[in-house]
Amino acid sequence: MVAPAPWTEVERAAWSPPERLSPSAWGERYHVVPLRGSAEPGPYRLDRTPYIRGILDVAGDTEHTEVILCKPVQVGGTEAVKVLVGYWVDTGDGAPIMVCLPDQKAAEAYLRERIQPLLETPRLARYLTPSSYDVRRDQIDLVHCSIHLAWTGSPQTMASRAIRFAVSDETDKAQDTEARALDLIRDRLLTFGPRSKHFILSSPTTSDGPIWREFQATADKRYYHVPCPHCGTSQRLVWEQVRWERRELDLEGDLALALEDELACGRARAWYECSSCQEPIEEGDRMRIIERGEWVSVLGPDPVSRRVAFHLSALYSPWVSFGALAAEFLRASRQDDLRNFRNGFLGLPQETAPLTRRTEDVFTPRAAGRRAGVVPSWATLLTAGADTQASGLRAWWAWVVRAWGPRYRSRLVAAGRADSAEELIRCTVDARFQREDGSGFERPLIVAVDAGGGAELLADGNTTWLVYQLARSDPGRVIPVKGYGGTNKPLKLIQARAVHYQPPAGNSPPIPTLLHVLDTEGLKDKLYGLIYGDDDTMWEESDCLPPGYATQMTAEEKTRVGLGKRPQVRWINPTRSRTDWWDATVYCLAAAHMVRADERATRSPPSPARARPEAEEERRSRPRHLGRDTERGGRFGARRRERW
Ligand SMILES: [Zn+2]
Repeated sequence: MVAPAPWTEVERAAWSPPERLSPSAWGERYHVVPLRGSAEPGPYRLDRTPYIRGILDVAGDTEHTEVILCKPVQVGGTEAVKVLVGYWVDTGDGAPIMVCLPDQKAAEAYLRERIQPLLETPRLARYLTPSSYDVRRDQIDLVHCSIHLAWTGSPQTMASRAIRFAVSDETDKAQDTEARALDLIRDRLLTFGPRSKHFILSSPTTSDGPIWREFQATADKRYYHVPCPHCGTSQRLVWEQVRWERRELDLEGDLALALEDELACGRARAWYECSSCQEPIEEGDRMRIIERGEWVSVLGPDPVSRRVAFHLSALYSPWVSFGALAAEFLRASRQDDLRNFRNGFLGLPQETAPLTRRTEDVFTPRAAGRRAGVVPSWATLLTAGADTQASGLRAWWAWVVRAWGPRYRSRLVAAGRADSAEELIRCTVDARFQREDGSGFERPLIVAVDAGGGAELLADGNTTWLVYQLARSDPGRVIPVKGYGGTNKPLKLIQARAVHYQPPAGNSPPIPTLLHVLDTEGLKDKLYGLIYGDDDTMWEESDCLPPGYATQMTAEEKTRVGLGKRPQVRWINPTRSRTDWWDATVYCLAAAHMVRADERATRSPPSPARARPEAEEERRSRPRHLGRDTERGGRFGARRRERW
């Protein structure tokens, strides 16, 4: 009897059961990152993004059906999705695959730029047929399976037959429709039950956006822990522990910009402070500790779950250094808008949706049927506010005149643009407006004029100087004001400060001026309360609404800004839109507070006929008594010299 010849290698390979690679192993063996549109083309490697391995392998196991990844940009998420789709094509027994994107445009781009190059890699090209791309735009038919493209907002694209593998990418770009879309996809996956797999990933937006809701709704939350090179403590990297040089100096202007540049390019030092031993973990150590990191579930070791959620931040990204992150943070802080930093770099949602609910719809209806230039019968006085602007070395003002009554009830009486100081005076404190009840005329008592605003250059000086001159020429009626918000905010809503202003040109001596410093945050809160409060008679407009009024009145929103221990609630202008009318109205409200419009109204109540002469008397004397703030501040008492 002849002994059978030993098997050759080829025979062995042919008869061995199909190898079961994990998705990460499959990716490193077969996936190729295309040349186009990639910083690191060539064979796929996970050396620099080792955290992706744990995510991919959960997405490829038989234990979990839903995998959520809440991530920043630039951590390798895009390529990971491609690997997973390729893995499913190659090893998924021909089961249908769906990729869902926020809209049709994104889906088409995804097909063209991601899926097609993926299918042309050597390992997967074998599954293409001559007609694979000869298809409806939302489907690719391969030899053994189909890849469906779907987008939220189009239920038809999702209402295909049953699917086994699904990816929902960039969920937060389609906030409104996405929650429903995720459920539609879950319905499609039902047939395959525990054999199905749904990979949901996005950068977060707000805390009520889809990805953050999915993340929060998962018990098995996992964070990537790395060992400290000094004490060995395994820890999650968090933004609060990032340090950089000159951080404590709170630099401003060019120095701040220079520091941003130096941090971004690595010339200024940035490091991570170990949360256990407080020793610095340098940029040079970062990739080394990330290589040695591991995913840790909040449920402890070996949790049993069908649904798992991963969180990543750019602190783990091989493409973003500690310094670059610090520079990005400083830039965002300078622009007073940390949303993109939180979402795109920290992978965290905006802590809350804006705290204010703004709507443009309130202004026009409240102007209807109310004639401009008329003082309502309930009003006790008028004030004006003017926002100072400059263009082409010439100053101009957006001004409003408003009537005030009890509890600061208010109506717009007039609004417009003044192209000279004379015109501003003529349109505000020199203008006469008839009372609705026919009992005479009213003039605005004072006009609060913006003296801050960066002191824009004019042909003959700057706007601050111009406003101070105007105030000196009409003392008691023209009140220079300057808004302070944030950390510099004055202790009181309105605070009079004697300043000695150094005129911009020549050798003229400093001039004493009384400036009213405003807590603009507080005034805006009050304004918001008047406009959007329960009593919609408190804020009225009239038929002189200038173009853009409603848009500008709603351009700012109140939002929690800042990170870590001391987040602040601030009024911000997220779209950097114009706010001339909003600012002028803030100054007008400040003026109403200066003359204590509210007290006056409650102290000399109803019977308008009798109260009038008395009120008139009071009004005439008022400019010299602008309220307690002024007197307590002391006229020109302090020796503070201001330059802008
Ligand atoms: Zn340590």
